[in-house]
Amino acid sequence: MSVFGSVLTVTGHIGCHPTWDCEVCGEPWPCPAFRAIGQDRWDGTTLIPVMSSLIRSAIRDLRGRPEGPEPPEIVKRFLWFLPLNDEEARAIALRMR
Ligand SMILES: [Zn+2]
Repeated sequence: MSVFGSVLTVTGHIGCHPTWDCEVCGEPWPCPAFRAIGQDRWDGTTLIPVMSSLIRSAIRDLRGRPEGPEPPEIVKRFLWFLPLNDEEARAIALRMR
């Protein structure tokens, strides 16, 4: 969580285990405000490793919930800055298990 802390908390919009809703807006995190800030501040080389480590725990927390997102949806949500199609998101989700 150290990378998470130093890189992402500067936005003030943070969501974490186990609900992954933003603590500020209550939106599913990464929330729209975080995305807007993050897109200006970081590029993919910074975000991909950080987000990938979070996807793993988010999938663990959110899968299996009745209304919860499927793993590929979680992948797309956390890697919103990449143009992933459904097939690519599914492939990544499989590797995250
Ligand atoms: Zn927020």
